[in-house]
This record gives sequence, C-alpha cells and structure tokens, in this order.
Amino acid sequence: MPRIPRYARIPRSPNWKDLLDILCLDLEGVLLPEIWQGVARRTGIDELLKTTRDIPVYDDLMQMRLQVMREHDLRLDLVHEVVSKLEPLDGAAAFIEWARQHFQVAIVSDTFYEIALPLMKKLGSPMLLCHSMQSSHGEVTGYRLRQDDPKRQVVKGFQAMNYIVHAAGDSFNDLTMLEQAERGYFYGAPPNVTEHLPHLPQARDHAELRELLTLTLAESD
Ligand SMILES: [Mg+2]
Repeated sequence: MPRIPRYARIPRSPNWKDLLDILCLDLEGVLLPEIWQGVARRTGIDELLKTTRDIPVYDDLMQMRLQVMREHDLRLDLVHEVVSKLEPLDGAAAFIEWARQHFQVAIVSDTFYEIALPLMKKLGSPMLLCHSMQSSHGEVTGYRLRQDDPKRQVVKGFQAMNYIVHAAGDSFNDLTMLEQAERGYFYGAPPNVTEHLPHLPQARDHAELRELLTLTLAESD
C-alpha cells in the first residue's frame, strides 16, 4: 500500500474542467528495463551499468556513454540488437492500457528516437517525447537534446494548453517533471532520488501507481 499524502484539490479552471488529464510517464525503470544496462550485459562493460539514478547530470552520463562507445568501437547496430531483444517490464503494457482509458498518456524520456521507437510498439505505441542521436555510417557521434530542462518543459507545455498534468518517474532526470506537474509520483525510486522531493508519494510497482492515480481520479469528480 503506497503512502498516500493529503492533497488539496487540484485547482481546475471552470472552463476546462472536462479536459482529460495528461499522464507523463518516464520510460526506463518505469515501463522498460534500462536500455544501456542491456548494452552493458551484452558487452560486459560495467561502466554502462550506470544510469540516471546514479549520475545527477544527464550530459555527464551521456558523455561517459559516448566515450565508452568510442573506446570499445560500439556501433549503433549493437544497441539496436540489444533493443530488439528487450521486453517491457512485467505489467507495463497492461498498466499503459489501463492508463490510456483514464488519461492521455505521454512517454517523457531522455532516450533517443533512434533507439527507443521500435520498443514503443510493445507498449501499444503511446506518444514518445525524447531526443535524437547523431550518427555517421553507424557510428554514434553525439546527441541532441530536444530543449533545455526537457521534462519540465513538456509539463509546462501541456499546462499552457490548460491540461492538468500527472507525472511518474524514478530518477534524477525526472525531478523537474515531478516538481512541475500538478501531481508527481515516484516509481520505484531509490532514496538518493526521493530525498530531493520527500513530500511526493512513492509507488513500488504498477499496482501501487494505479492505486494512487485512481485516488486522484476520484478526487477530481
Ligand atoms: Mg527512468
């Protein structure tokens, strides 16, 4: 049973209270296993086991990954091979199916279309907002973030369109999204992440996240 905070009602504009709320979901660690950890297991390179749960600044993490790829001559093909064998976390596809009946769902990730798009089919092809990877002849040369502070900007964008936003994530790179949303939830996040927003409720699995979201829906009636 997740810890349920006492919330004030979400202030809804009377003009827009009938809009279907948006649910922004982080991808890796919430719906899919960590993609780069799959590459680490495939190649035996332990440095690639590090994730957004370990390294607070995303650019530091990605620069390290690109450096490792260069040093070991890892090409985009190998990442694609790993991705092709990945399956969603247990219960993730059913959770998304449930969520889409109650919210408009957007996957908000710091991954890259070139890597993650093939996996979206296994989750019922929800909207994916992420970044792009730069490559030349199969060699990864860099990456381009969609914008600065991308996860917060997604929430702000939906809010600017009069939507109420709920968000769930597990890592440092989710903190601004969780802070900006009307309702933020941690999903299976470690203490070194949750301590930054200790007032947010924490779900340990999809059943608990569904329970928290169901309470929010009831509150909105
Ligand atoms: Mg994550």
